[in-house]
Amino acid sequence: MDFAHRMSRLGTETAFEVLAAARALESQGREIIHLEIGEPDFNPPDSVVEAAVQALHGGWHHYTPANGIQPLREAVAEEVSRTRGIPVDPEEVVITPGAKPIIFFSLLALAEEGWEVIYPDPGFHIYESMIRFTGAIPVPLPLREAQDFRIDVEELASLVTDRTRLIIINSPSNPTGSVLTGEDLRRLAEILADRPVMVLSDEIYSRILYEGTHASIASQAGMKDRTIILDGFSKTYAMTGWRLGYGVMPRNLAAAVSKLMINSNSCTAAFTQVAGIAALRGDQEPVRRMVETFRRRRDRVVELLNQVEGISCRTPRGAFYAFPRIRDLGLTSQELQRKLLHEYGVALLSGTAFGRWGEGYVRLSYAASMQSLEAGIERLASLAAAVRC
Ligand code: PLP
Repeated sequence: MDFAHRMSRLGTETAFEVLAAARALESQGREIIHLEIGEPDFNPPDSVVEAAVQALHGGWHHYTPANGIQPLREAVAEEVSRTRGIPVDPEEVVITPGAKPIIFFSLLALAEEGWEVIYPDPGFHIYESMIRFTGAIPVPLPLREAQDFRIDVEELASLVTDRTRLIIINSPSNPTGSVLTGEDLRRLAEILADRPVMVLSDEIYSRILYEGTHASIASQAGMKDRTIILDGFSKTYAMTGWRLGYGVMPRNLAAAVSKLMINSNSCTAAFTQVAGIAALRGDQEPVRRMVETFRRRRDRVVELLNQVEGISCRTPRGAFYAFPRIRDLGLTSQELQRKLLHEYGVALLSGTAFGRWGEGYVRLSYAASMQSLEAGIERLASLAAAVRC
């Protein structure tokens, strides 16, 4: 079968591949510790599950408007307005099946051959994959450990050209756990002030933050009308499998993205949308408890990793990933990923799964029990000791 040429430009998410390799080993009777997965090991709040059940009994079985039901768009507008300190109209909100389609649709709507899109490296691999898919030119913005994996705004300024269409930023970040400061965002807004460039601000981890409050580029003067905020329910409410996310963007772009929804999904599942209202308007205590658990695990993971000779790890400020430096072990990131899985039974991800600048690092998800984390790092320490001799 001949595929369309564009298919050769499409990448994938290594987490799913590593998970498949780990499952294959498990089917042979091996015991594997899973530290590769990017989803909370919690259940959604009971009230959200109950709201979905009620919605099903209450007749929410049919298509909804492509951009989502009005009450959910109102709830999202209120939430984003409150948390980012900007006015948001429900017409600027598009509900999608998971937040990922916001990346896909924004790029389909804005990027094409001849245009450049700047994205973080290491960063969520779907950015580069989708940029290439549209035919646009991906321009990686290196995130360096010396800068706590935050963007270097001066370097970003040097990458912006007359052909730059879109800049993607992600805070808190997957895979580094870094968080952009208010000052980073102020300077970014300053350099973009006289350039006609849109920003896709991936804020999917906005509520999984260990200090301070979440800062969005959309809150900076002049930026709201040039920003697409991506957020959703997958991480905050542990609803990855429900597929419920949203984008907040200028009205004309929201109309274009709704058209892409009509052409692809028709709409997001009706009863999950009703449950989304319950998530946003309900008791937020389960979210707070989950983040506290992540914080305890983060502290322990960072402490244990820093005890391993040849490995060092900065303290992530958000999301649920540690991104330790393993360069001094003398293995490439991929070699370590493979060896650790096949010989020591621990699944984690090579830093290069997130781009070339991820070489020398691995990503470990602490959305796993403390017992798994401690056992996994112990096995990593055994590997480190073995390669040192
Ligand atoms: N953006 C980032 C940085 C992510 O890590 C993920 C999921 O892993 C997403 C977006 C997509 O989220 P969703 O599961 O809601 O599609």
